[in-house]
Amino acid sequence: MMDAALLAQALIRCASVTPADDGALSVLGEALGTLGFQIDRPRFGAIDNLVAVRAGKGARLAFAGHSDVVPAGDSARWTHPPFAATIADGVLIGRGAADMKGAVAAWVAALARWLAGGGDGATMLIITGDEEGDAVDGTARLMPWLAERGMLPEATIVGEPTSAAQVGDTIKIGRRGSLNAILTVEGRQGHVAYPERTDNPITTMVRVLARLKAEPLDDGTNVFAPSNLEIVRVEGGEPVANNMIPASAQAKVNIRFNDLHTGARLEAWLREAAAAEGARATWDVRHSGDAFVTAPGPLRDMLVEAVRSVTGGAPVFATGGGTWSARRCTRSTRRCRSRTSRG
Ligand code: ZN
Repeated sequence: MMDAALLAQALIRCASVTPADDGALSVLGEALGTLGFQIDRPRFGAIDNLVAVRAGKGARLAFAGHSDVVPAGDSARWTHPPFAATIADGVLIGRGAADMKGAVAAWVAALARWLAGGGDGATMLIITGDEEGDAVDGTARLMPWLAERGMLPEATIVGEPTSAAQVGDTIKIGRRGSLNAILTVEGRQGHVAYPERTDNPITTMVRVLARLKAEPLDDGTNVFAPSNLEIVRVEGGEPVANNMIPASAQAKVNIRFNDLHTGARLEAWLREAAAAEGARATWDVRHSGDAFVTAPGPLRDMLVEAVRSVTGGAPVFATGGGTWSARRCTRSTRRCRSRTSRG
């Protein structure tokens, strides 16, 4: 029988700091191979990925996750070495134990038990080595790869850690969208004593930003908090001269938005705001993904029932925080990125 802790330890002992794999996916592939899974190892750029499929009855349920981890930082500050996978007082300690080699191992161990008990449903694992980095050669490329082969699953569970205080107490059912934008406003440089000969871009930029902040984007929905734009940086002017009107000014904003908006519509809204203030402006917009939410249905019901049967508790549904792998699954084949254009 497959042991979740042993498998998690074997995975953690591979120092798979993005983009390195260090054998992690081979460890996983071997374990899944013994359970009768067909293993594919699509490699995109410098990134190793793994797709494991087991034929069976009914709709195909996938488990999505990642085998890479963030850097361990100063290993001297760890109570146990980050890649030793020590079990101390019943707790598995190591980089990736929570996010998310522990979950991958637990899923594989559960699969083994399910199969041993006669489980015969169609199932698959979609594991990327590129979640903690730029995440361009992982799920974002695996989804079209799967679509081309007619292998997209009917339902997917992402094994990212979502519990708050106790295992199973929270299920993330969606995620807000995120958009980063850099506004550059052009003006005309000059001396502050002769403002009539200049065009102060900071004044214009302040007006644009004030317009963007003037009204809330929405009041939230029954599953999402209100959408929100935050100005995270403003820049303009010469650091040493306090009598110069600069030639340009820049501001960075981030928008976290719910499913009342799309990144594309918000980008248009940004451009309109600059145009309405008569700004000679350039927007450099980067979409990280639109909001998504999982509708009530059999998958949610099944998860709630599974949590109840194991912990006795009832999970709450949440949409805050990070569930990157899940959002990337929703991106599918879309390229959610656009670059500089005039607005
Ligand atoms: Zn993660």
